[in-house]
Amino acid sequence: MHHPCFSDRDICIAGAGIIGLSLALELQHRGASVTVLDRATPLGEASTAAAGMLAAADPHNPPQLRSLADLSLSLYPAFLDSLHVLSGIRVPFQTHNTLQAIPPGVLNSTNELTPEDLAHLLPALNPGDHRFLLVDERSVDPRQLATALLAAIHATAIDLRPNTPVLSTRSVNNAVEIQTPAGILHAKQFVDCTGAWASITSRLPNLQVAPKKGQLLAVSLPSSLPLHVVVRTPSIYIVPRTSGPNAGRAVIGATIEDAGFNKTLHPSDIAHLRSLAAALLPPLAGAPQLEAWAGLRPATPDGLPLLGALPTQPNHFIATGHYRDGILLAPATAHVMAQLILDIALSIDLEPFSPARAKPQRP
Ligand SMILES: Cc1cc2nc3c(=O)[nH]c(=O)nc-3n(C[C@H](O)[C@H](O)[C@H](O)COP(=O)(O)OP(=O)(O)OC[C@H]3O[C@@H](n4cnc5c(N)ncnc54)[C@H](O)[C@@H]3O)c2cc1C
Repeated sequence: MHHPCFSDRDICIAGAGIIGLSLALELQHRGASVTVLDRATPLGEASTAAAGMLAAADPHNPPQLRSLADLSLSLYPAFLDSLHVLSGIRVPFQTHNTLQAIPPGVLNSTNELTPEDLAHLLPALNPGDHRFLLVDERSVDPRQLATALLAAIHATAIDLRPNTPVLSTRSVNNAVEIQTPAGILHAKQFVDCTGAWASITSRLPNLQVAPKKGQLLAVSLPSSLPLHVVVRTPSIYIVPRTSGPNAGRAVIGATIEDAGFNKTLHPSDIAHLRSLAAALLPPLAGAPQLEAWAGLRPATPDGLPLLGALPTQPNHFIATGHYRDGILLAPATAHVMAQLILDIALSIDLEPFSPARAKPQRP
């Protein structure tokens, strides 16, 4: 069968979510020519479903994530600056602090807020049994970020092709042949950034990527509740938007479900999220609902991303499995993956994220 041949590019990325597009910008900035293929609409999946917390200090994160998360936090201002330079769009931090519930079982926590501090900081809060810390943590609006990221990509020579799924890939003569419905493309290197779909796109050695569905909703904040901090407990988060097109709303999330690739919304789940949020912040009880939606987090069995070369397929790389933290981890992922692909010294050790690492043992 004859396939039309695309012009050869240095690097082909599958998946135009925040991970694939951030990596494309970084590689292009370092002199590579880059093609990005997406099966559907760029930034149409998890990356615009997210709440946007840059939750490096979330006590539920695996400890091995810390080096990557800290690197990403340090790169975030420069990442947003580079998007501004390319796109003309400035993406602000929406919040600068999070009221984080101390996990049950942690007895003495330094910096625990007294009931008086809490009442002063957020008079509307009904802490119930929760004890809280005030954490230095920022958030962004992923939809605003997506608009800037896409405009930045369009301002470069990156070849972004929507509606072009990668059907299969194979290593040939020190290059990679990528099959799409529109024909075959050759690249020196291929990177799988297909998020929750990565186990379909690539032959992964030990750890598979699975979709974890998250439903969430947005409400209009009542004028009696000016909210400038994120509030987060183990069962709920409330993330206000303070500037930009979505200012005045709060995102309430999220379920964590094994439902395959099904993104159907269930009114009972949305109502449950609403009631949990209203228990914590009673003025939210009557807040008008603006929207509800669902997204698919790319999850691995040990909760850590897969970042590295695919061991049995020359010139194949993968960067996925960012689970609940892909918005946070995008700048560092782009930075270290570009270093790895272009054979530059790595800023951090990628061993904990090796795609060849062993599957965790079940207890
Ligand atoms: C409800 C929810 C809340 C979240 N909240 C936060 C948060 O507060 N903070 C945070 O940091 N993270 C959060 N996340 C996680 C974050 O959204 C993800 O980790 C991140 O978006 C993953 O980005 P990605 O680019 O890997 O995947 P995606 O954005 O899903 O992109 C993958 C892309 O690959 C494409 N694709 C699939 N198969 C193929 C193929 N064969 N060929 C070509 N293209 C293909 C898809 O069309 C898609 O566009 C949340 C996620 C959800 C669902």
